[in-house]
Amino acid sequence: MVEATAYREAFLAGLRPEPQITVSQWADEHRMLSSKASAEPGPWRTSRTPYLREPMDCLSSSSRVQRVVLMFAAQTGKTEAGSNWLGYIIHNAPGPMLAVQPTLEMAKRLSKQRLESLISETPVLRDRVAPARSRDSGNTMFSKEFPGGMMVLTGANSATGLRSMPCRYLFADECSSYPQDVDGEGDPLTLAERRTTTFARRKVLLTSTPTVRDQCRIEAEYLRSDQRRFFLPCPACQAMQWLRWPQLKWEVDQPETAQYECEHCGERISELHKGKMLAAGEWRATAPFDGRTAGFHLSGLYSPLGWLSWGQMVEDFLRAKGDAPLLKTFINTRLAETWDEDTGTKVDADALLDRVEPYERGQVPEPVVLITAGVDVQDNRLAVSLWGWAAGEECWLIDHTEIWGDPTRTELWQQLQVILAGEYPRTDGKVLQVMAAAIDSGGHNTSEVYSFTRDAKRQGRLWVAVKGASTKGKPPIGRESKVDLNLKGATMKLGASVYLVGTDTLKDTIYGRLKHNEPGPGYQHFGKAGTVEYFQQLTAERKVTRFTRAGMPNSEYVKKANARNEAIDTAVYAMAALHLLYRRFDRRTIWTQLAAKANGEKPKRLSVPSRDRPAPAPSFLSNW
Ligand SMILES: [Zn+2]
Repeated sequence: MVEATAYREAFLAGLRPEPQITVSQWADEHRMLSSKASAEPGPWRTSRTPYLREPMDCLSSSSRVQRVVLMFAAQTGKTEAGSNWLGYIIHNAPGPMLAVQPTLEMAKRLSKQRLESLISETPVLRDRVAPARSRDSGNTMFSKEFPGGMMVLTGANSATGLRSMPCRYLFADECSSYPQDVDGEGDPLTLAERRTTTFARRKVLLTSTPTVRDQCRIEAEYLRSDQRRFFLPCPACQAMQWLRWPQLKWEVDQPETAQYECEHCGERISELHKGKMLAAGEWRATAPFDGRTAGFHLSGLYSPLGWLSWGQMVEDFLRAKGDAPLLKTFINTRLAETWDEDTGTKVDADALLDRVEPYERGQVPEPVVLITAGVDVQDNRLAVSLWGWAAGEECWLIDHTEIWGDPTRTELWQQLQVILAGEYPRTDGKVLQVMAAAIDSGGHNTSEVYSFTRDAKRQGRLWVAVKGASTKGKPPIGRESKVDLNLKGATMKLGASVYLVGTDTLKDTIYGRLKHNEPGPGYQHFGKAGTVEYFQQLTAERKVTRFTRAGMPNSEYVKKANARNEAIDTAVYAMAALHLLYRRFDRRTIWTQLAAKANGEKPKRLSVPSRDRPAPAPSFLSNW
């Protein structure tokens, strides 16, 4: 019963008034870093990461701050600051607490990898929380009991977990990665924060690396705070400044030469000064304090020597700079700044006009091995784009045509037939045909589109009806759904079908790629078909963010008022048609197979799954 007595004493100790020490003082006195969870095991020293002192102290019972927002880069110690706060609560200021991770799986990992060692390596915590797995210990994977309080761990993907109990403390970790909505009950952070409303002495800690601009929780919270920045003195002129990425300078291709240029005196500061500068640093608010929320922003430039060097950051940057997804990761996790999606969508028509290449309309440049078509159906015209493709989805606009007239009349469709069945000479003399076409059936002329594609199917052509998906995040092209029924109500084998197109997904890709400036994988080439009017249509849409009633951002593409946008729609459909072909080839060898075919060599092996094979024999392969 020795154990039971120890807990009783500890329980009574938990009822004492809370001592006036701060979280950083507590950590310096009690916290031990384990060799399992830390690269620098041993006693915690706040002096190693001086910028953590003030945020931690705002979490102390003696501070009047209620909400602490940390928009921090990776590898700056923000998770350790959170762990110190947990230890402080268990030891000094016990109460009910909810710790939220993006998912239940991550909550499990936090429990196993960090909490277990935080508790077992820190003597004053070990005495207060029973070892896991001992029966009735109150210590499980998702909950830790201690005298005077309890900590519950959960994932932002679990509404049940977020509703669990009223809590005085809330630790929302990596909150920018939470889903927008959990189980139809709304924003998980709002749900969690609602748990704290009954406690006058509540504390909320929100931490995260940021994500996409205007859609990022931690950025929104930081912007609502007093926006503190960590100011450091220049060793040469002593002027205080916060570290910004553009001030980092290095010799071409020599990341190890990185130095920080003082924005006041221009002195190049070596990283060896960083320790001293950090020790003399101070947080300064750059916006008014609302009496509740303190916000802190910190980039990886502040990482202590031995964690992440300026040279390493330059190296990461050089590796990422030509590649949008990598650059986004660099900006989010190293600079702790949001990624501006507009840089992905803001493409202007003039810039595209400048890069038009001298090939003629209808002429196919030599790297192209296959052509797809996208057709947009308007009430008084059809718009058709032909795109040529090569390895890595490098592509060429072959032609863009408008066929004016009434889509309910057959002449219009006969003209389309001529374009889609046409032969297109390649610069080396070989001739290519359209291998797949996607035709918009979402407007007023659905039945005409079905009728045209039904006929095409009987001719063995892969010209299909498509419809833009109304929701976001759909795959480029969905499953085939048959729309023609026979008299018995069964679907007809050679009847019409329609495919759902992930319009937003494809626009993200196309607008992202339009920013590429160097020919290569993903680059879009334009020849003489690229006119002023064409580029205005191609760039007529823009991704904008609107806020839902619950206050959550939601982004979607919108068209400029009165602008025509068929060029972007036909580009989307032509790319959807390419994805349709991907289903009929081995993705690993498609480009070599097609190149051989286009050069008139005998194909080695074409994998056309029999269930997808249109009958009669697929002339789209043989006549091409
Ligand atoms: Zn200076």
